[in-house]
Amino acid sequence: MGGEIMAVAMVMAAENAVALRCVGEFGELDDAELVAAVSAAHRQAARAQARELEAIAELRRRRIAAEADGDPDYRVLTAHESVVEEIAVALAVTGNAAATLVHVAERLSTDLPATGEALAAGRIDLAKARVICDLSDDLPDGIAERAEAAVLDKAAEQTTGQLRRRLKRIIGRLAPDAARQRTRDTVQGRRLEVWETGTGVGNLSLLDLPAEDAHAIFNKISAAARGLKGDGDDRPLDMIRADLAKGLLNGAVLPDAVRAVLVQAQAEPGEQSDVAPAAAPVETEVETLAETIDERLHRVRHDARLGRRVNELPRLIGRAVRQIQDDVAAQRDGLCQGNEPQHGHPSYRPPAELRREIEARHATCVFPTCNQPSRRCDLDHTRAWRPGTPGITCRCNLAPVCRRHHRTKQSPGWRLHQIWPGLLVWTTPSGAWHIVRPERQ
Ligand SMILES: [Zn+2]
Ligand SMILES: [Zn+2]
Repeated sequence: MGGEIMAVAMVMAAENAVALRCVGEFGELDDAELVAAVSAAHRQAARAQARELEAIAELRRRRIAAEADGDPDYRVLTAHESVVEEIAVALAVTGNAAATLVHVAERLSTDLPATGEALAAGRIDLAKARVICDLSDDLPDGIAERAEAAVLDKAAEQTTGQLRRRLKRIIGRLAPDAARQRTRDTVQGRRLEVWETGTGVGNLSLLDLPAEDAHAIFNKISAAARGLKGDGDDRPLDMIRADLAKGLLNGAVLPDAVRAVLVQAQAEPGEQSDVAPAAAPVETEVETLAETIDERLHRVRHDARLGRRVNELPRLIGRAVRQIQDDVAAQRDGLCQGNEPQHGHPSYRPPAELRREIEARHATCVFPTCNQPSRRCDLDHTRAWRPGTPGITCRCNLAPVCRRHHRTKQSPGWRLHQIWPGLLVWTTPSGAWHIVRPERQ
């Protein structure tokens, strides 16, 4: 145990030395090194938070052990409550914030040790550790550990939202009854909340409705808003939705025109709910290709560093990705085209069937951290569409991209490449890359 702590301390000292040496010298770093410095500092913060939680857990253990030795006295705080107060004053945080910290500390030191280790190693941050804690609370014996084991490997590269969705899916599979019961319990707390932001603006929120009810309401209002827009209302869709909802909650009735649109929209399939489509199966070849790309780009970066060409990294990475794309082009064309007379669809707009296929392949915008459902994204031509160019309308050149990340894609230094149908590579201005695979559970 002592040796392990010693080793951890030495690693931390080494990273601190790097970080300290960099203080005030960021001007001398290249872009890739700056991004690396950001990541290193984020990992250090996670390690420090792990230490904080370990210390809290130890304090709690001592207080609980002392309490167990004597008779319970109901006139005073329990040991647990007392620790919460101690932490609240020590950190000058609210009782709620302290209670959360103590709870997370206890969970990580008892039934979620692997999450504690991942935090201590800086592989995940505190926000992700909290997601794992929150969602695995109150599950039948052994389920929390199994769910934890299933999500931890990928948690490093997922946002908290992605992690939360994945964990929910896994818990739903491992303990369907418990998951359903939890949904029922949560729905019991459904409520309407109002709060002011202090700038003359008020927010109104319907919370903890059954998901299908929430989507049904949103879809109905959206369909009515789109109907008004189609009739020439030039306000933004969000504003029309808000005004419609406000009117309805104030007791107004829907105008006949809007009602007609609603009836029509409800008849259309696909308008009913936002539930993500089932994931398409992913062939092992795609995974192998993704790994090959990653390896090749790592090698390019390694060589660039050895050859002191780090400043050229964005250009070298871009060139390598294009090279990979060319290498697989013939195979990809064969796969797409099959026995068809030409590769791809002749028009700019993809036919409905192709659109559904692309949306099933990626349930959200293909930017690595984006959660915008693909139904609310544009189907972007990865290479710009022009007849007779490689920018064709085909499964190998289409992907859902939201407005914001469409702008990202167009920004200097950013590029998006589709190497294989559904397998995309983003390259960044600092010469980093992010591989996006077709969806899977
Ligand atoms: Zn194609
Ligand atoms: Zn996006």
